[in-house]
Amino acid sequence: MEAFCVEIGEKPFRSVQILQWIHQRGVSDFEAMTNLSRNFRAQLNDSCEIRAPEIVLEQISSDGTCKWVLKTDENNRVETVFIPEEGRGTLCVSSQVGCALECSFCSTAKQGFNRNLSTAEIIGQLWVAQRELGIGAVTNVVLMGMGEPLLNYSNVVSAINLMLDDYSYCLSKRKVTLSTSGVVPALDRLAEVCDVSLAISLHAPNNELRDQLVPINQKYPIEQLLAACKRYVGHDTRRKVTIEYVMLENINDSPSDARQLLRILSQVPCKVNLIPFNPFPGTIYNCSNMSTIRTFSEILQKGGLITTIRKTRGEDIDAACGQLVGKVDDKTRRRIRLDAAG
Ligand code: SAH
Repeated sequence: MEAFCVEIGEKPFRSVQILQWIHQRGVSDFEAMTNLSRNFRAQLNDSCEIRAPEIVLEQISSDGTCKWVLKTDENNRVETVFIPEEGRGTLCVSSQVGCALECSFCSTAKQGFNRNLSTAEIIGQLWVAQRELGIGAVTNVVLMGMGEPLLNYSNVVSAINLMLDDYSYCLSKRKVTLSTSGVVPALDRLAEVCDVSLAISLHAPNNELRDQLVPINQKYPIEQLLAACKRYVGHDTRRKVTIEYVMLENINDSPSDARQLLRILSQVPCKVNLIPFNPFPGTIYNCSNMSTIRTFSEILQKGGLITTIRKTRGEDIDAACGQLVGKVDDKTRRRIRLDAAG
């Protein structure tokens, strides 16, 4: 932005003013940027646009979870989800339209891969959420929506930089979490440029099973992935990677799976988040029952691993991540409000 300002004959610090107008005050019209000269505003108007993805569907769950389907171009839609909690609001952001990885339990995978989102389309999701919910509503961002963020590396890093920037969203790096299935070389590159919080989609305690559930494991097996996690946190003893583990009935949820998981994680600074599987039409998997999940969790906890069970949110509007997009193709904005009665 600085380089751009200089290029058109303005002072570099103007970039800060533009960023603040767009990202902190949510302005979408250059005319409103009253601390810029009239001439500069006209120049911006002629050569630039401020455009966020358009909301084509909004669903609000009885628990307050809000899900938007956003149109990024004529043919493509992505999802963004806002999860309000006591004292914080988390926005789940997409990084790609569809996904090229073929994780067998994920509905986004079933849609295939369309394209990478641009930096504008990624940060645009936060911009739209702030516009809809008000400044300050989003306190945390998780890159856990559609797509594999590390396969859209440079656009994702640029968007993260805006999330962290003092003149944009000013989020602390602890409050921005990137979730990855384990693209090891990109993970090492990420560690060099920004150390946001990291979540790893592990989902299996051994390579044999992970090869099936998360096929990228065939390229970067568990040992390499966990070694990269250790490199990522480095010597900072306070930092922990979040290990995501989806609970699939009779697939990866036995006590012996839990013990094996405990063993492989023993040297990794991490905590575990058990995710009840969200079923979707056509899936061969079922979610483990709650007592199985609790037993699994207790084994990990007794072994000294901090373990949480992810609370399912927005169940009434969302059977599974990515599912809504397939159902929406009209061009006008629709609003669906579901009360407790459904
Ligand atoms: N591609 C990235 C981020 C997107 S998915 C990654 O793999 O981490 C965010 C999380 O939701 C991942 O842990 C993913 O494995 C999990 N997930 C995908 N489908 C799911 C489903 N049907 N039920 C529960 N969790 C699912």
